[in-house]
Amino acid sequence: MSIDLHTHSNFSDGTMSPTELVALASYKKISALALTDHDTMAGTEEAVLAGSRMGVEVVPGIEISVSYTQIEYHILGYWADSTNSVLAAALARLQGARAERNEKILQKLHGLGIPVTSEELQVVSEQGQTGRPHIARILVERGVVKTMSQAFDQFLKKGEAAYASRFAYGAAETVSMIRQAGGLAVLAHPAQNDPDLVRLPAVLADLVSAGLDGIELYYPSHSNKVKKRLRALAGQHDLLLTGGSDYHGEVRPGTSLAGGKNIFVPPELLEKMKERLRLRR
Ligand code: AMP
Ligand code: ZN
Ligand code: FE
Ligand code: FE
Repeated sequence: MSIDLHTHSNFSDGTMSPTELVALASYKKISALALTDHDTMAGTEEAVLAGSRMGVEVVPGIEISVSYTQIEYHILGYWADSTNSVLAAALARLQGARAERNEKILQKLHGLGIPVTSEELQVVSEQGQTGRPHIARILVERGVVKTMSQAFDQFLKKGEAAYASRFAYGAAETVSMIRQAGGLAVLAHPAQNDPDLVRLPAVLADLVSAGLDGIELYYPSHSNKVKKRLRALAGQHDLLLTGGSDYHGEVRPGTSLAGGKNIFVPPELLEKMKERLRLRR
């Protein structure tokens, strides 16, 4: 039986509701699932409730986009208290920054002769929190591009004509924010923007002093070589190991929850996470 500690719902850029996600986990015999939407914990209450009905252990989580030496990293937070005043204010600021950026992107698209309204964006964003993937979906629906990747490559990624930056907190301050809200802080998919892990030792040295608890080891794109290196670095810093599918629903073809043909994440990892939290509290 696998667990899955990294998933997205329609409270960010996933396509399933938290309840549907938990039902899928139950169907796939995943014993524990963490909901880790981008920059929001708004879907976690629904997920936890669904979990208790369906017999799936649900861990309330989040994935926060941060900036570190001007490069984007993602920090996962587990069991942070979303009502903690500092965390809640930070998440509100991130929502505001997303809204501002969306307007800039829409203006740029307008300038390119592709008028998309904020109302349309709101509809596709479902539960609220909007990201570039939602804009990409509209561009696919309109037939402007064929795939979401193409939307990023031609318009939305850094350097392209409709790109707009947005505010992000620093990595270290985000780690301490999660810790102060009573959560565990984990560096997500460390190889995503650093495929040979050349920057990682320095990143870890910094983030461990800020209170980083773990790194994501099991991840669909991680090679055996990457995993070996991650295990070694985690050992050096006494870091927890986590893992998940980064499932976004059917919007990304070929992805699925952990287990089955996807990665296997051992349930013992979750026990170790809980143990660390118990010792701390
Ligand atoms: P945002 O958080 O709004 O800046 O959007 C970033 C998100 O877009 C990432 O977390 C990914 O989920 C998604 N993304 C980034 N690049 C691509 C791509 N080339 N194709 C599809 N999705 C992407
Ligand atoms: Zn996403
Ligand atoms: Fe991520
Ligand atoms: Fe993710």
